[in-house]
Amino acid sequence: MGKDNKRILIIGQGLAGTVLALELLDKGQDVTVVNDPEIKGSSWAAGGIINPITGRRMVKTWNADELFPVLKDFYNSWEAILNCKFYHQKNIYRPFLELSDLNDWLAKYDDPEYLDYVKKVEKGPILEKKLQNPHGGLLLKNSGYLDIPVFLKNAQKYIEDKGTLVIKEFLYQDLFHSENHITWNGKEYDDIVFCRGANERHSEIFGWLPFRPNKGELLNIKIDLNIDFGITRGKFLMPVAKGFFKLGATYDNHYDHEEKTFEAKQKILNDLKNFLDTEPEVSDHFVGIRPATKDRKPIIGKHPEINNVFIFNGLGAKGVSLSPWCAKELSGQILENKPIDKRVNIDRFFSLLR
Ligand SMILES: Cc1cc2nc3c(=O)[nH]c(=O)nc-3n(C[C@H](O)[C@H](O)[C@H](O)COP(=O)(O)OP(=O)(O)OC[C@H]3O[C@@H](n4cnc5c(N)ncnc54)[C@H](O)[C@@H]3O)c2cc1C
Repeated sequence: MGKDNKRILIIGQGLAGTVLALELLDKGQDVTVVNDPEIKGSSWAAGGIINPITGRRMVKTWNADELFPVLKDFYNSWEAILNCKFYHQKNIYRPFLELSDLNDWLAKYDDPEYLDYVKKVEKGPILEKKLQNPHGGLLLKNSGYLDIPVFLKNAQKYIEDKGTLVIKEFLYQDLFHSENHITWNGKEYDDIVFCRGANERHSEIFGWLPFRPNKGELLNIKIDLNIDFGITRGKFLMPVAKGFFKLGATYDNHYDHEEKTFEAKQKILNDLKNFLDTEPEVSDHFVGIRPATKDRKPIIGKHPEINNVFIFNGLGAKGVSLSPWCAKELSGQILENKPIDKRVNIDRFFSLLR
């Protein structure tokens, strides 16, 4: 380890903490990750969908042209290093809701803005007997899903091997600040990065940030449908093995508890029936709290008043697509003092602290 290497403590091993840890290990840093699996993170509940064109209005996802090349490169290279498969590139089919959508996309198809993301415009229905898509739809490329549990488990082994992993609840009272370093668990570190997801809203030092946690539920189902692409129409349906799909998700920012509910399960299944004629068998049901923010953008960067303390949060509903690009922004700041893109920089909220 050269003298320019930093000792960095990361709290949380969801997508944010994991992607950042890999990025920093790749740059030769001395990384320790602290994670408490008893504190349920959002990453383990997530569908992992990567979708460049989203929403009812079918617009390019925020900052897609910067995010997508970075995520592709990141997950492809880590698949090679970790020697396992978790980045599944699959087309996603988005049925048009109205005939005008078909006409709009026939006009937009050649637009250089969308060339990287649109594979085909279907002018009429596909899977006609099963799928509601009378006006055809849009077949997307550069899309797919990340098998998040496989990614997190294999990354965890790598972190244990190349850095340090501590399975423990982090308590703020155990952290000691000096002018140039911090001390935790009897060891000195140059910097600490909080990657605690929605749990950060209870934080002693970042609780003032405008978090808007959002509860989500998702199902694993078995259906009699043989397709190799995802479908999104209000809900997403993603094939993960023959006959097995991920189906989700709900969005709820007025929840009064964090457990899964029968109502959410029924809502997901009813929404599926609105576009697919099928009798699903539910094999699993997941719940998680998305770490979303007031302006729906990530929050990354340095604490305004406490030295050597950073945050990586606010991945919201798109952690898989956002985290590799955000981790590069943050590691640039931590290691080279590079400015963070102002759209995701924590400094846009500094006025809230005064
Ligand atoms: C139902 C559902 C479906 C979703 N689908 C998608 C999708 O299809 N595509 C997509 O990109 N995103 C999706 N998301 C969003 C995605 O889950 C998040 O963007 C992302 O996982 C957030 O990662 P994170 O690391 O910031 O937080 P988390 O995953 O919550 O990780 C936080 C980590 O910190 C640990 N921790 C917290 N406090 C402490 C402490 N005091 N001490 C030690 N450890 C601590 C926790 O154990 C956890 O491991 C979905 C979310 C839900 C709920």
